[in-house]
Amino acid sequence: MNGRLLIVEDERDIAEVLIMYLEREKVQTVWVESGEDALKQLNSDIFDLIILDINLPGIDGFETLRKIRQKSETTVIIVSAREEDLDMILGFGVGADDYVVKPFSPGVLTARIRAHLRRIHESKNGTSDIIQFGDWELDRSHFILKKNGEKIAISPREMGLLIFLSENEGKAFSQEELYKKVWGNSFGDLSTVSVHVQRLRKKLESDSSDPQFIKTRYGFGYYFQGA
Ligand code: CA
Repeated sequence: MNGRLLIVEDERDIAEVLIMYLEREKVQTVWVESGEDALKQLNSDIFDLIILDINLPGIDGFETLRKIRQKSETTVIIVSAREEDLDMILGFGVGADDYVVKPFSPGVLTARIRAHLRRIHESKNGTSDIIQFGDWELDRSHFILKKNGEKIAISPREMGLLIFLSENEGKAFSQEELYKKVWGNSFGDLSTVSVHVQRLRKKLESDSSDPQFIKTRYGFGYYFQGA
């Protein structure tokens, strides 16, 4: 995954974990701790994507975003812990491209970042980020799943899992690998992976005991098969 990211976050722990995840994915990151520093950075540097915390010292994330939007269309993912911020983001169109609720799993945020970077990369190359399989359509940059044109509710974790598997079509992953990639954890209850696989199958498959899309590689793990 190629890309250059600006992280605007005043909480050092959060920024450091995120940077660690992104560097593992070979994404270049620049970290600043305030909106003012973000604007300064944007005057002299170009980024593919901006991760913007709302609750910042000095000018807040909303004001920062407003100022960014005066001169740039760069993709912005807002990060916020406050529900009233989300109402604002969802209701008033503040110019964000996506948002993530704190506390977030760095694995999930990384998956979203990956999807956005792919979309940005593909729109430069003129290809689409929507895949079709069976009656299904998955828009991996807007996190929308549709069946026969109708939007289907899906949890963020199920979406993360589906995007990750479909991005690596045909490649099988163990529960440990999926837990690491999608959940962003190295240790924990791995059975949550199979629970989410079963949920996804219930949603996607006409016969979840004989899945067409989310397949099992026996003794190893799971893979996605689109066609
Ligand atoms: Ca903050």
